[in-house]
Amino acid sequence: MPSTSGSPKTPAAKNDRPPALKRPAGLEAIFQPVTLVTGVGSAAAKALTRLAGPNLIDLLWHLPAGLVDRRYNPTVASAEPGRIATMTLEIGEHLPSRRPGMPYRVRAGDDTGGLHLVFFQSRAPWLQKLLPVDSTRIIAGKIEAFNGQKQIVHPDLVLDPAEKHRLKPIQTVYPLTAGINGPQLERWIDEAVRRAPDLPEWIDPPLLKREAWPSWRDAITHIHAPEDEDDLSPLTPWRRRLAFDELLANQLALLLVRERQRRATGRSTKATGALRAQALKLLPYKLTGAQLRTLGEIDADMAATTRMSRLLQGDVGSGKTIVAFLAMLSAVEAGRQAALMAPTEILARQHLQTIAPLALKLGLEVAVLTGRDKGKARARTLQGLAEGAIKLVVGTHALTQDPVEFRDLALTVVDEQHRFGVEDRMRLSNKGKGSDVLVMTATPIPRTLTLTSYGDLDVSKLDEKPPGRQPVDTLTLPADRLDEVVAGVGRAIAAGARVYWVCPLVEESEVSDLAAARERAAELSAYFKGRVGLVHGRLRGPEKDAVMAQFAKGEIDILVATTVIEVGVNVPEATVMVIEHAERFGLAQLHQLRGRVGRGAGKSRCLLIYSPPLTETARQRLTVIKESEDGFVIAEKDLELRGAGDLLGTKQSGRPDFRLADLEHHADLLEIARDDAKRILSTDLELASPRGKALRTLLYLFERDAAVRYLRSG
Ligand code: ADP
Ligand code: MG
Repeated sequence: MPSTSGSPKTPAAKNDRPPALKRPAGLEAIFQPVTLVTGVGSAAAKALTRLAGPNLIDLLWHLPAGLVDRRYNPTVASAEPGRIATMTLEIGEHLPSRRPGMPYRVRAGDDTGGLHLVFFQSRAPWLQKLLPVDSTRIIAGKIEAFNGQKQIVHPDLVLDPAEKHRLKPIQTVYPLTAGINGPQLERWIDEAVRRAPDLPEWIDPPLLKREAWPSWRDAITHIHAPEDEDDLSPLTPWRRRLAFDELLANQLALLLVRERQRRATGRSTKATGALRAQALKLLPYKLTGAQLRTLGEIDADMAATTRMSRLLQGDVGSGKTIVAFLAMLSAVEAGRQAALMAPTEILARQHLQTIAPLALKLGLEVAVLTGRDKGKARARTLQGLAEGAIKLVVGTHALTQDPVEFRDLALTVVDEQHRFGVEDRMRLSNKGKGSDVLVMTATPIPRTLTLTSYGDLDVSKLDEKPPGRQPVDTLTLPADRLDEVVAGVGRAIAAGARVYWVCPLVEESEVSDLAAARERAAELSAYFKGRVGLVHGRLRGPEKDAVMAQFAKGEIDILVATTVIEVGVNVPEATVMVIEHAERFGLAQLHQLRGRVGRGAGKSRCLLIYSPPLTETARQRLTVIKESEDGFVIAEKDLELRGAGDLLGTKQSGRPDFRLADLEHHADLLEIARDDAKRILSTDLELASPRGKALRTLLYLFERDAAVRYLRSG
């Protein structure tokens, strides 16, 4: 079945695969490899690529980390220890290191006195070439006093007086990487800045005026030539301008994608409501107000001829799965198909367990497709999906792969979106003609991040927990009270509770993570013979499932785990969560972990064990988690505590990496960018006006080419 999209009525549909557009002419100058810069060879290019990126533009985006004032030019006698000085000195005798560990020293001085230049672990031939005896050198570095003598350890700069022109009174300092030194990088970036072209202005003139922002080129020039510490602030007009550019490109790109999905590719799914009515009767509970409202939003999207792109945010346990299932039934009622994709095998199986029994009572089969399903069963599923005999399927990433075809996929539900890239989401939904997409996430996402990462999605929130949930009692305990915890766990088990025990997250290596978990499991087994199981990331799927199943059935009472239980696992009888080294977890993670308990009727507890001393941030994190159970509140606090940083994890998140914008400082600009992008597209959807054309340049500048491809060339 063809995977191209679209209702032929809409003009944009014809532009499904327009030829790749050419980058606007002005940009060619900076989308050139860094090797174009004088003095950058292939080794330096490699290092630069690692550090900043492969092109000149990446050097422009590589922002200064600091500056050094080289304007202090004392004589040796007057040089004050502790200050950074630049001096012209005569080079004297070399005093090589006499013992390993001792420095190599070089005498130097002027009319007023002498000092030592000190080098550790440096090679003599190199030093002899750098500092020939009886030569004159300009030396810059920090003056130190040692044994009543002045010295400079590893001078920042050694120049032949003939190269004096290379000495900048104020030197810009950049983040470095191995194989590149500061002055080199400064020189290369200077050259990149000189090559930066004038670009047409894409910012709305009133805004530009109000903020008194410089042009793009001036902003770039300024940002690389700071004159004092204040110039390095994220709040300078030039930095704010560049941050705004980036945010505007981001918002424009997201809105273009979304607009295009809306207009071009949707189909109406005509649900009868018959299956849903039956399903609702079978449920042992009533839907919450939030669930009903969300379903209403999804129904409206699915019925519309536009394509649904909706994000369903709901805390752990807020009842997303049933909402997804009821939406999937609409597809079946319309004679079409629905797929649910989860990030892990365990989660896919768990969704299956929730959905399949209910589906069965409605006379529907739910197929499953994961990496583990092989052979005949898999072939049968693939055939059933292609022919349309199978209406509902649950699976993992395997669903996105090539052999999987649908007869008529109406709805794609993607769980735990942030583990998938945006491409995965598209790859699956594109297996259907204009298939509607519902993305579910249990990680509450603050609004700023929703805008920047999910700006192409409409948002529904399950902000109401099903009734009867009891709050989880959360306690913090220092690690030296572990004995009490073990005793408490013993009492809880005796009373019929089941316990999760999450083991330290050791950042350095997965191996030590595992060792800690194994050790803990062994220790607990000594107390609670035969009642302890262990799951970790290294276990193979079936082994992991087997242990989880034992825990779910109550054959074991304590499940020791690395963080593999982080998402989704549902064992209502589990009422105790112990988290060791809680100070090492992020807020979102703690919240997720705690969400594993408090799902059933019993009173639940979460014990956060920490090892003092706590950093201030760690202390605040533990306080937040103790005081709130509201995922949205926790997410906002998280953002406050550590900035937008890696709230969603890094690469997999699909979150754009901002290079100039820093949401901690530029959140106000995000709002402006959002409104501006909306306004632009409402009057100039194809970016064809003069400002529109400048905005195309902006999209290219920030490499949002994919979004430009949605536009007609012009
Ligand atoms: P989530 O996927 O959002 O973490 P689930 O869909 O797994 O949450 O729901 C958690 C539990 O709550 C499930 O056992 C589910 O059957 C139950 N549940 C869902 N909706 C309701 C409701 N409205 N009332 C009572 N229980 C509900
Ligand atoms: Mg629709």
